[in-house]
Amino acid sequence: MSDAHTPELVIGIDLGTTNSLVARVVDGRPHLVHDGSGAPIFVPSAVSFLEGEQALVGQAAVERAPLAPERTVLSVKRLMGQGLADLSPEVRAQYGPELVEEGRKLVKLRVGERLYTPQEVSARILRELKRRAEEGLGQPVTRAVITVPAWFDDAQRQATRDAGKIAGLEVLRIINEPTAASLAYGLGGKDQDGVIAVYDFGGGTFDLSLLRVQAGTFRVLATCGDTFLGGDDIDRLLVSRAAALLQQQGIDPREPRLKAQLRRAAEAAKIALSSADHTVLRLQDPTRGVRLELELTRADLEALMRPLVERSLELCRRALAQSGLGPADVSEVVMVGGTTRIPYVRQRVGELFGRAPHTQVDPDQVVALGAAIQADILGGGHSDVLLLDVIPLSLGIETYGGAVTKLIMANSAIPAQATEEYTTPKDNVTAIDLHVLQGERELVADCRSLARFKLRIPPMPAGLPKVKVTFLVDADGILRVMAEEERSGAEAHIEVVPVHGLTEDEVDGIMADSIEHALDDVRVHQLIDLRNESATVIRAARRTLENAGDQLTAAQREAIVAAAARLETLCEGQEVGPLKEGLEALNQAAEPLAEVILNRVARETLAGKRLDEIEV
Ligand code: AMP
Repeated sequence: MSDAHTPELVIGIDLGTTNSLVARVVDGRPHLVHDGSGAPIFVPSAVSFLEGEQALVGQAAVERAPLAPERTVLSVKRLMGQGLADLSPEVRAQYGPELVEEGRKLVKLRVGERLYTPQEVSARILRELKRRAEEGLGQPVTRAVITVPAWFDDAQRQATRDAGKIAGLEVLRIINEPTAASLAYGLGGKDQDGVIAVYDFGGGTFDLSLLRVQAGTFRVLATCGDTFLGGDDIDRLLVSRAAALLQQQGIDPREPRLKAQLRRAAEAAKIALSSADHTVLRLQDPTRGVRLELELTRADLEALMRPLVERSLELCRRALAQSGLGPADVSEVVMVGGTTRIPYVRQRVGELFGRAPHTQVDPDQVVALGAAIQADILGGGHSDVLLLDVIPLSLGIETYGGAVTKLIMANSAIPAQATEEYTTPKDNVTAIDLHVLQGERELVADCRSLARFKLRIPPMPAGLPKVKVTFLVDADGILRVMAEEERSGAEAHIEVVPVHGLTEDEVDGIMADSIEHALDDVRVHQLIDLRNESATVIRAARRTLENAGDQLTAAQREAIVAAAARLETLCEGQEVGPLKEGLEALNQAAEPLAEVILNRVARETLAGKRLDEIEV
């Protein structure tokens, strides 16, 4: 419930490639939401499917990955809204489950017999975040803002929204990660016009975004990145150096367990050097005669990682060049991602832009905290900030000869609307094909196809039909297209779904499916519990019958034996109801036996306990 004074609860979610976080604003300041155990919600974005529909999510899934790689999905974010052709061989090679393409060119993951869309996998992560947040906050969480990379296209954004919907979340807004990070630093106010560079150096990826802030709106000027450049590469360089030493000792560093230990030791040494000038990369495994001590200084690490940092700076220069700006045009630099904790990275970025970057906010949390601020605005908490994003790529329609007419240009602020009028070049056309495209190029073949649909009209001479096509991009950056023939009044309200997306029906189907499966999951749980309880009661009854059965009548003994045998048979079935009844029947049949035991042992101490408890 909310009233004029209480903002509605809307959470901010950083749905990351490696980790996902949940934040909210309390008393005007953003914080990570804590789960039921009091720990901040920071969940690895990993899902490992068990047999049936159940899955482990988060750390448990990460730990299961080496044991069940073909059932475990890591980095599902890279697959969102993608067709197989969009993925490089390096990206494809990262996945344990087989990637297949079905229907409208949408990648799916094959896990056992079942195919999962990336949206469904992401939804598992979101559902886990929702569950933990609800446990921690003690109230339902139904509305959220989710962040995506600035370079996500329409299909990828739509896929993220769909994942939210499947998870039972109303996604009030999808916002760009660099926009969120800027908000966390309080940048982007109405009187803070300028250019913000957001330097995001994480574990596996690097992104640089240049944002223009103008009158409280954020416009993406350019993004440059490398999906294979991150802190893990620094770890790998340290690993190779340590591995060379091991080889000198005659030890094979490629052995998987040793390799994993080496990687952990290398990362620990790297992190230590962010706060110390000197450290020792240590590895000891007496069982295998491994004893390694590699002395490292901060200067050693800097020399080693210099080429990686150079690569990131080169991408910054490229983004500046693309937007026709020089470093001096950048008014603020924001740091995101764990690797920006390294002093050398901060120093080099500061030198490039000629100003000290913002580093006060935890670089792993900054995106989630910014998402929480946007969530708070939408929930009614802040009223003084107007925040808009822009359309990343132009939207248009195919015209004759394979050309594209753009209706809405890239970088238009959203919401946006545009209308074009068309007619027919031939007589008696009864159906007009409309092809919606996204991209900056002029020819259909060079743009991305978003949707095709038909508008049926009555036959008329060429040039007479007046077809009005309207593009509408709502505040979430989602496109709807309407077509109307004005003379006849024929119209088609077409739901435009990106070629790589799901239709609303499909999303609803998946939701219904997941609700159905949720019921299924409850039933399976009940069944398992009842079977366990039955096994305990059967065992207890039989054992007690052996010890004390002579004090019962033959009929009482037979009743227990029969009830136990019946329950055993029921345990093999799949029905909850009969199993419950069978268990109850055995408990009843065994009552005289319990009485005998109770009489025999101290009635007072055991009073009130059931047969199976006495046995235990
Ligand atoms: P992210 O993907 O943003 O979570 O960043 C994770 C990366 O940041 C990993 O490569 C970590 O090893 C690295 N990292 C985290 N903390 C530090 C630190 N204090 N110094 C250096 N690297 C760090």
